[in-house]
This record gives sequence, C-alpha cells and structure tokens, in this order.
Amino acid sequence: MTRVGIPRALSYYRYFPLWETFLEECGVEIVRSDPTNKLILEKGVSHSVDDICLPVKCYFGHVLDLNEKADYILVERILSPERNLENGFTCPKLMALLDMVKHGLEIKPKILEFCLDSRKHPLTRAIGRIAKSLGIPKRRALNSMKAAIERQKLYESKLTRMDVSIEKRNCQSGKNEEIPLTAQASDLFPRQEDARSEMRKPCAKVTSHPYCQPKRDLKIAVVGHEYLIFDKFLSHDICGKLERLGATVYTSSALPEEIIEKEIMKYEDISWVYERDLVGAASYFLSSGIVDGVIFVVCFACGPDSITMEIINREICPKNRPPVMTIVIDEHTGDAGVLTRLEAFCDMVRRG
Ligand code: SF4
Repeated sequence: MTRVGIPRALSYYRYFPLWETFLEECGVEIVRSDPTNKLILEKGVSHSVDDICLPVKCYFGHVLDLNEKADYILVERILSPERNLENGFTCPKLMALLDMVKHGLEIKPKILEFCLDSRKHPLTRAIGRIAKSLGIPKRRALNSMKAAIERQKLYESKLTRMDVSIEKRNCQSGKNEEIPLTAQASDLFPRQEDARSEMRKPCAKVTSHPYCQPKRDLKIAVVGHEYLIFDKFLSHDICGKLERLGATVYTSSALPEEIIEKEIMKYEDISWVYERDLVGAASYFLSSGIVDGVIFVVCFACGPDSITMEIINREICPKNRPPVMTIVIDEHTGDAGVLTRLEAFCDMVRRG
C-alpha cells in the first residue's frame, strides 16, 4: 500500500482531518511524523538558514523525520486559506515553503503538493491534484473528497462551538461562566495521541505536579498561531503549564470567524489572514471581559507577528484591559524561563 507522510507541523493543526479522511478513503496509508522533539527540532534547525522562523525550521525537521518512513510526503503551499477575503494571504514563508523543501532538503520520498489559493481556486482543486499525483481513479477521488470536506467542516464547527456559547451566556446572564475552551474536538480525531486532542484533555498528572494549584481560579487567554501553541514541545506546553498553575485556558484559534470579523472591523485592513485572526482574537479577549489576563505567544523572526504585536499594543487599548504578557519563543528558549514568567504573570493577575 502507498504510504503518504504528513509532517506534524504548520497546517497539520488546521487541515489534518481533511487530509486524513481523503487519503484513507482513497486507500492510502498515512504516516505522521513523530510529535516534535529535541531531535526533530535540531534536524530542522541544522537544515535551514538562521533567519527563518521557528515553526518553519520545525517543519523541516518533521519532513526529514519522514524520510525513511513514507513513499510520498505531503508538503503544503498555502497562499490563501479558505476565507471570503479578496486580499487575504498567508506570510511569505508559508507561500515559499514548498520551494524551500524542494530545493533545500534532500529527501527520498516524492513530494505530494497541497497548493491552496482559495482566491483563485476552490479547495477541491487542491485535493484533486493530490489524487492525480497518486493515480487515484476520478470517481473514488470525488467520493473521498466529499467525505473529507464534510469531516473538515464538522471539525471546524466543533472547534468553535463553545466560544459562541460563552458569548451568548455572558449576554444572557451578565457574568462570565467557567467554560474551558481547551476541552473541545477531542472526539474528532480518531487517534488519541493527536496534539490538538491532547491539548484539550485535562492533564492526568495535574495533582502530583510540584507547582500544581489545587483549584482553577483564573481565566487566561493564549493568543498565537495554532502550530505554535498546540505543539507542546515548541511552545513549552504553555497551555498545560497555565492549567497546572490554576488557570482555565482560552485559545485564540477556537474563536469563531464571526467574532473575529466583527472585531477586525475596528482596525485598519490587515492582509495576512492568520494575523487578522490574532488581532481579532486579541481585541475580543482584551475588551470582552471574559478573561483575567492575555498571553501572546510569538516566534522570533516572524515578520507578520512583529507588526501584529505593535498593532495590538498601540491600537487595542480598551479601558480596564486585563494584564497582558508577550512570550517570544525561539530554539534557545528554556523551559524554566517560560515557567518563571508564567508563574509571575499568574501571581500578578491574582494580586489584581
Ligand atoms: S506567520 Fe510567522 S511564524 Fe508563521 S510561518 Fe510565517 S513567519 Fe513563520
């Protein structure tokens, strides 16, 4: 059976249900790279130039991890994800990712291209190209495509469902309610080890951890790219650490598009699609009063993030906004340093 490798990085956190369903329905075996670890990151760092951002370096490591494990590796080139935006596009590094992998890495498996530019072509075309490269008969490809798109939609709707309830409940009751946004969508991934599912399960060892707080008395929003905050190794498990420090964690990636679009109207047009989401989420969390504090997680060497942070710091200044902290992560960031900053932040929020 043909084996297709999927790197566990970048759009894996967005499109994995689509890819998995489509390929499995086509009778193809899927092999995922291991969850990010020291070796994968070191491989990625040593095969990339210094000024590339951490998630892309990490992606290289995942591609190399699949070198001996698959016949094909699915590599993405996402210019414009599925949105109703005329001028929305991703960052230059994501646009050039396919070329960087093709020309920068020596790998045995063939490359399977997932090229998505929804301003010009629908998602079905991106999937159709995969089917063509794998020689899947048209009828089977069409049926698989239908199933894959349905599952992706279901996944996305489940991801955002709880945030909508928060808004509604706050409007109705006038107070905040305890709804952990990290407890979603675990039923949608069939394999338990999936990173996003893991993030959404309570930590099993929570009560035995040395810095564990007995109760959750804080609500903290974590705003950042999903491929960073849902990768436990890369993000130093910021969400898990916050939970152990007594916080209920709310993540930016689970906010529904309607909320983001409503918030983003308040600011100058931002063309980077993923950065629009971050600014919209930051604006919502800073002004809605549903959280006690907001943490921005950004990568060193991320061009769009450096601008997004300025927009957030200069333009989103509602009265009585909750405390804010920015954590910049690169390959040299240490776990103890991240924990110290989170402890200090939670302490500050508790003291008011
Ligand atoms: S948006 Fe930033 S972190 Fe993401 S791929 Fe582009 S440069 Fe890297």
